Amino acid sequence: MTMIGVLALQGDVREHERMLSALGAETIRVRRPEDLVQVDGLVIPGGESTVIDKLSRQFGMQHPIRAAIADGMPVLGTCAGLIMLADAVADGVDGQETIGGLDVVVRRNAFGRQAESFEAALDVAGFDERPVDAAFIRGPVIESVGPRAGTIAMLDDGRAVAVVQGSIVGLAFHPEISGEHRFHERLITDAAQYRARSR
Ligand code: GLN
Repeated sequence: MTMIGVLALQGDVREHERMLSALGAETIRVRRPEDLVQVDGLVIPGGESTVIDKLSRQFGMQHPIRAAIADGMPVLGTCAGLIMLADAVADGVDGQETIGGLDVVVRRNAFGRQAESFEAALDVAGFDERPVDAAFIRGPVIESVGPRAGTIAMLDDGRAVAVVQGSIVGLAFHPEISGEHRFHERLITDAAQYRARSR
């Protein structure tokens, strides 16, 4: 069975676990480098990126995750998870770092106060015609997408909200909350391929 890790330092870990289990994947909570060795793919959940960053460095996870992503391990980051995957973050707290890997610049909390939470129906490149029901909860704005990454979904105003770079997927919204399972399905498929390649 494909083993998907959920980085479980802070954030909505349980919602991701539920979705992954419903799709037939085995899941493990990843907190220590030795947990990471067992996984074929990783979810970095939504939550608070400043906290996830601090804890991931305290738990010695920043470098191992960075190395695993560089090795091709598939990863899905939602919201704060996207911030953790971004190569650069604007409006971070002092000293905030990311794991990186995704050639984008994100700005934290940039949808503004009034629109802190909203839903949008998105067309996602590569999915069937059913739109994605996307829940935005104090999500980051993707300010720029570098040449190594590609946009797979945007808002009506043209702002990117879903980006892909190889087997790295970053979403500014929460599919695990709206019951949208196609991103997790894709992660499991990519993870199974990675497993076959690396064993
Ligand atoms: N505002 C949060 C942050 O900066 C992200 C919000 C979320 O993950 N829902 O990390």
